[in-house]
Amino acid sequence: MTIRGAVQGVGFRPFIYRLATTLELRGWVNNTARGVFVEVEGERERLDEFLLRVEREKPAIAFIQSLESSLADPVGYANFTIQHSDEQPGAKTALVMPDVATCPECLAEIRAPRNRRYRYPFTNCTNCGPRYSIIEALPYDRPRTTMKKFAMCPACEHEYRDPANRRFHAQPNACPECGPQLQLWDMTGVVLGARDAALVAAAEAIRAGKIVGVKGLGGFHLMVDARNEDAVCELRRRKHREEKPFALMAPSVEAVKALCEVSPLEERLLRSPESPIVLLGRRGGASDLAASLAPGNPMLGMMVPYTPLHHLLLDELNFPVVATSGNLSDEPICIDEHEALERLQGIADLLLVHDRPILRHVDDSIVRVMAQREMVMRRARGFAPLPVMVQDELPSVLGVGAHQKNTVALAVGRQVFVSQHIGDLETEQASAAFERVIASLEDLYEAEPVAIACDLHPNYVSSEYARRATKHPIEVQHHYAHVLSCMAENALQPPVLGVAWDGSGYGPDGMVWGGEFLKIDKYGYIRAARLRPLHLPGSERAVREPRRCGLSLLWETLGEAALAQSELPPIAAFDENERKLVAQMLRQNLNSPWTSSMGRLFDGVASLIGLRQKVRHEGQAAMELEWLAARSTDAGAYEFALRAGQDGQPTELDWRLMVEEILRDLQRGEARETMARRFHNTLAEMILRVAQTQAGIPVALTGGCFQNRLLTELAVARLQSGGIRVYWHQRVPPNDGGIALGQVVAAARALRQKETR
Ligand code: ZN
Ligand code: ZN
Ligand code: FE
Repeated sequence: MTIRGAVQGVGFRPFIYRLATTLELRGWVNNTARGVFVEVEGERERLDEFLLRVEREKPAIAFIQSLESSLADPVGYANFTIQHSDEQPGAKTALVMPDVATCPECLAEIRAPRNRRYRYPFTNCTNCGPRYSIIEALPYDRPRTTMKKFAMCPACEHEYRDPANRRFHAQPNACPECGPQLQLWDMTGVVLGARDAALVAAAEAIRAGKIVGVKGLGGFHLMVDARNEDAVCELRRRKHREEKPFALMAPSVEAVKALCEVSPLEERLLRSPESPIVLLGRRGGASDLAASLAPGNPMLGMMVPYTPLHHLLLDELNFPVVATSGNLSDEPICIDEHEALERLQGIADLLLVHDRPILRHVDDSIVRVMAQREMVMRRARGFAPLPVMVQDELPSVLGVGAHQKNTVALAVGRQVFVSQHIGDLETEQASAAFERVIASLEDLYEAEPVAIACDLHPNYVSSEYARRATKHPIEVQHHYAHVLSCMAENALQPPVLGVAWDGSGYGPDGMVWGGEFLKIDKYGYIRAARLRPLHLPGSERAVREPRRCGLSLLWETLGEAALAQSELPPIAAFDENERKLVAQMLRQNLNSPWTSSMGRLFDGVASLIGLRQKVRHEGQAAMELEWLAARSTDAGAYEFALRAGQDGQPTELDWRLMVEEILRDLQRGEARETMARRFHNTLAEMILRVAQTQAGIPVALTGGCFQNRLLTELAVARLQSGGIRVYWHQRVPPNDGGIALGQVVAAARALRQKETR
């Protein structure tokens, strides 16, 4: 665990020592320039208890601003010790802290009628409040934050200068006398109200079914009453967001528990200083939530208020609201109120704004618990820009990430700073945000990268940027970056078998890869195995239409005869003319690129069992397949063939036997959920079988497919029962949000080899 905040010089290490020994855990604790570092070893339940009790029982004056934990291999410590502080000279990179959720003391103040900060939405202290979203430059000092335009009143100034005060050197310190204030605007910018009246009127509007743009910590949210079906539908229509689920903000953890099943680990996440969106299983039975929040989705993305503004607003409402990012779909989140007048025009009815400028956009982070660990699926508020520590000193390298869910990463010494989530680089707005984030990361750490790493894909906006910024960008294969990213956060050394499964990534052979087994050695990677490729009739259209993948699976398995079987769901999903067209594409190999993508296999199977023929957003069919499979406990798996490649070609995982078996299941009238489950079981079996061909070296699971909890848990269990060590993502997303980190590591490896050559 790395614990940051007011945890040094407050008896934190003795506290950790006592707690660890009480629980009979072994390991050590020390202070580093980066915070308190703890390694504990013991039984799983004790470790969980330790994690939960650290926050609950910490010394009264200690304050945790971030707590990052991940599970690692046992070392075999004999006892628990307090180690000497490791003071590496020159290793003190000033850390920019992430934005921290409101602390209990500040919350009590804004709720206490006699306090001078009663109902003041910008209350904060050294333990909580904005950081990364307002810092212009280091060192972190008020004149170098967006708070510089507010002169502190004498009372605030006094707190700020008093070492005994909780607001001693709290850079964003403010009060109703001297700090930022709220206003309520209509969409022409006319001020309808100010201060508390603005907040009350905004709450009133939400209650009346209006869509209100709320300027928060790292950008705008769009908020509507989550119980109001008409309002939620209207928000979907205006935002051009068809079926993607909306995240919710509930007034309290108790309110979350009324809607969802919450485990102790999930509760810790909800209450943590990072305060992310936690993906939770919905409770069965009726709820008064609008049906179109997350159609057909057994999960809800839930968070609780994390700034005084959100606390006050939700206290006022006392019901859950949709809190989705303030943007048109695919654009980055809007951070400025004047910009919002344009960008949220036609989306929001009203804007609740304030005059504390947001320097950089920071979206809400998203976390899901799987295999009893946290997995960060979107790393932004609360986490960014905390670094990932690596084994060796790295040259200063910038990784510009991939195309979807883009992030960038910058190496400084042994730390890799992974930026906040930027998003899909589909729009001009997103590209501009991407360049701003790069400039600001380089600025903050005064870095002049010696190399820039980018994806091998020639047409990614990020790759084009790299080619503009440097003569010789280091191009990194997409799945290689995925695997290195997973290895980096788990501190793994080669050899490792990386299982990189996702929707698509450019291969050095010009093909679309995505069902890859890459063996990582000291120098690079070998493509040990891959999924048998399938055609994508219609290319990009096949990504939006699983039926095209379904048809392709049938075509490969049964040949042209498949087309006559109009009772099969993928065939039935086309009309006569379309069928002819697609057949012609496949027959003549027109506009039908080959791909070894696992994402497309998921699509194909979803189509085959009649689950979904067209999708509205990326990964939709695969997600629905996961939910369906999770309802079954069937232990069966389908047949598949493992075929050794000739002439150094990778081993091929041939899924045609599986398709034949699914067809038999269909004919027998097997339940869809049984087939979906058997498909998942088959994939876990495939991973084990390939791993067994690699002398049992450790396996790293990475790529967007491993956001699938069932798949990850099945694969982990299957490998572990086969005696193979397995690792997956915890702090860094398995999806393309983790690519930038992998690129940085790959570039460092390439540079090192150049030197030794
Ligand atoms: Zn506070
Ligand atoms: Zn003041
Ligand atoms: Fe990917």
